[in-house]
Amino acid sequence: MEKIISSPRGTSDILPEEVLGWQFVEKAARRQFLYYGYREIRTPLFEETELFARSVGQTSDIVQKQMLNLAAQGAGSDADDMKNSLLSLRPEGTASIVRSYIQNNLDKKERLSKWFYIGPMFRGERPQKGRLRQFHQIGVEAIGPDSGSPYLDAEVIGLSVCILRESGVDDFNLKLNTLGTLEDKENFSKYLRSVLSSRLDALCPDCRNRYERNVFRVLDCKNKSCKEVVKDLQLDYSYLSETSRNYYESVKAALDSLGIVYQEDPRLVRGLDYYTHTVFELSCSRLGSQDALGAGGRYNHLVKELGGPDVGAIGFALGMERMLLAKAEDATLKSSPVQVYVVALDEKFFPRAFQLLQFLRKKEISADINFSSSGLKSQMRQANKSGAGFVAMIGEEEFIQGKVTLKNMADGSQEQILLDEAEKIIKIVKEPESPRAREFEKL
Ligand code: AMP
Repeated sequence: MEKIISSPRGTSDILPEEVLGWQFVEKAARRQFLYYGYREIRTPLFEETELFARSVGQTSDIVQKQMLNLAAQGAGSDADDMKNSLLSLRPEGTASIVRSYIQNNLDKKERLSKWFYIGPMFRGERPQKGRLRQFHQIGVEAIGPDSGSPYLDAEVIGLSVCILRESGVDDFNLKLNTLGTLEDKENFSKYLRSVLSSRLDALCPDCRNRYERNVFRVLDCKNKSCKEVVKDLQLDYSYLSETSRNYYESVKAALDSLGIVYQEDPRLVRGLDYYTHTVFELSCSRLGSQDALGAGGRYNHLVKELGGPDVGAIGFALGMERMLLAKAEDATLKSSPVQVYVVALDEKFFPRAFQLLQFLRKKEISADINFSSSGLKSQMRQANKSGAGFVAMIGEEEFIQGKVTLKNMADGSQEQILLDEAEKIIKIVKEPESPRAREFEKL
């Protein structure tokens, strides 16, 4: 027996029967992007490793433990030049987008670039339910000189909420916090170090390390004893400057005006280094330990830190796998979108059936046929399985009379239609009340 090769650990196939669910979510998101004025950007799936180290942060788990690097082939390969650069599969979208914003001088072309992306991301994590090594994100970034408005924060947060709802996810929580400016963050981290210094031995070894290098990450730790310590911390917004506090109040007021419900959580800091001011996280308790649906925040210094102009930005990313796990089952179309299943009852009728098939497709009707000349029963079984609303049959009688029998699979009624008047089929199938027409509309 030949060895069967499986997909790499932490990756999964999205089979055709699942793809409709994915398309549903994507389409819902794309519709909202259109309404909100966000345009799609597609960046490479791999970049210089340094880009991620400098943006996501050298001390982040992603850069420390989860980067998937590319190895160039040996000498003489066409990608020989790659040997001198360290390249990694992208673990997230923001870094590439900021790189592209800078590289293409977007600040000179527009005051605010509102971009979205949909695609795979790669992290060498320990796989479990809802945590993969190749997963997919829907994300947005709003970057530019005009990005400094609290109303933009509210728009971006509102957009993430809207995409979840439109995708059929309605059981989720929105947590909100602010980190303030870089200076405020520095004050906050000093404060954290001072209150944690007496509790160091209760922290896990990782967090003792984090205490030195990036103390915020202690607040994110999943370790039980660290969580206990964090729970007891008295956190208020005393580290915030007045301007930062006012900014935060304006974001909240704008969210309130949009009717968006949120919980303030002073412990929410996010694992990535680049955030300033507003941070938010969307979660769904039904998902168990991997309950984060998405997250985002403001990053006012990243563009400059990566060598670009001094412009601010805000964005978020939603995890598609988790959205699909969290979404209400009935919001997904499960069956294939075949409207008409064509059946030739004998091989000799096949050429005519095949012509009818092409005719239907040209008229924008989704149609399929059984390529094996099996009997009526087995073909009807196939038609049923396809979920087709109608079956168009050509048997002996239909062949002689130049007709086709069109069977409505919802109520079993059937009528014979002359092939010369095949337009009639289109009319019947496209009728708004026809069994597949309404579902087809949703696609
Ligand atoms: P992050 O970029 O870490 O803030 O992640 C944003 C969202 O992407 C998370 O809330 C998850 O929904 C999703 N996500 C992140 N990492 C993974 C992963 N390894 N597997 C599946 N989804 C993920």
